Amino acid sequence: MPAVFDIQSLVRPHLLKLKPYSSARDEFTGEAEVFLDANENAFGSAADGAYNRYPDPLQQAVKAELAALKGLRPEQIFLGNGSDEAIDLLYRCFCEPGRDHALLMPPTYGMYQVSADVNRTDVVQVPLTPDFQIDAEEVVAALRPGTKLVFICSPNNPSGNCMDERGIELVLRHAPGLVVVDEAYIDFAPERSLVPFLSRWPNLVILQTFSKAWGMAGLRLGMAFAHPDLIAMLNKIKPPYNVNLLTQQLALDALRHPERRAQMVADLLEQRTQLREMLAALPRVQHIYPSDANFLLVRVDDANGLYQELIRKGIIVRNRSSVLHCGNCLRITVGTPEENAALAAAIKGSV
Ligand SMILES: *Cc1c(COP(=O)(O)O)cnc(C)c1O
Repeated sequence: MPAVFDIQSLVRPHLLKLKPYSSARDEFTGEAEVFLDANENAFGSAADGAYNRYPDPLQQAVKAELAALKGLRPEQIFLGNGSDEAIDLLYRCFCEPGRDHALLMPPTYGMYQVSADVNRTDVVQVPLTPDFQIDAEEVVAALRPGTKLVFICSPNNPSGNCMDERGIELVLRHAPGLVVVDEAYIDFAPERSLVPFLSRWPNLVILQTFSKAWGMAGLRLGMAFAHPDLIAMLNKIKPPYNVNLLTQQLALDALRHPERRAQMVADLLEQRTQLREMLAALPRVQHIYPSDANFLLVRVDDANGLYQELIRKGIIVRNRSSVLHCGNCLRITVGTPEENAALAAAIKGSV
């Protein structure tokens, strides 16, 4: 990483000249009572409630609350239609198709590869070690000038463990482009978030989401934290109204009740321990990996057979048995006490 962070040298050249869409509300800021500038419906909404006005394109109220909660400035925050939108925008912003590439560490979250494919970006793979740790020396050895994005998922999906902090720092030190640390599950982990690293590493992007600990997957709200210059680029290329009005309102509601999220996380961690104990007692279960997330990766005697049998009993888990290092593994999300008991009973009664 060069001593001076130069976002311009990383961005796809044609985007430096991009003139972003200017919305009606961008062109007028101030006080007014009559808004006839955006072709909205002045009479109201066909649904119950008032949804006839476009939402704030930069989600300033949500960012103000979030900034206070995370110890960041609003200019360091991007909000998207799920973290998946941030992942896609990072590729679109930095990876020139057929020229630049991303570095992924399988087994990991599938969207990094899908987004690379959608954006016609090549991928270099440096597998995690068999115990699912980042192989930082191998990653550094694989870095090339065109390595624009390195994705590190911590805690990792599907293995559930956090990546070694010193390994991540080694990659940050050597990466010629951006290092994206996906912390979708960080609220369930004993390890701290890397958010404090942002002041030292301008090439770091941290992803978090409202989909897991906040319990708002249906609303689609993802966060990216990074250097203000990088956030400004993402804002420049995003669809103008990418986070809808209801999502912004309900995110504010959630952010004003952090104790609700904390209680759910505490309940979930208790259930994770319970589920682990129940599963460990079952003969078909061979190994349960350590988890810093809201799921367990579980190796069983016959993952494909058990997966089908659970489906017949109306219980759906994720079959990860075809994924690197995950032979005969099921990924099981921690449920309510009743759901976990039903799962354990179904496995126990299986053949
Ligand atoms: C669930 C998950 C997300 C969340 O994606 P959203 O689009 O915000 O719902 C992000 N990264 C990983 C690794 C996940 O498992």
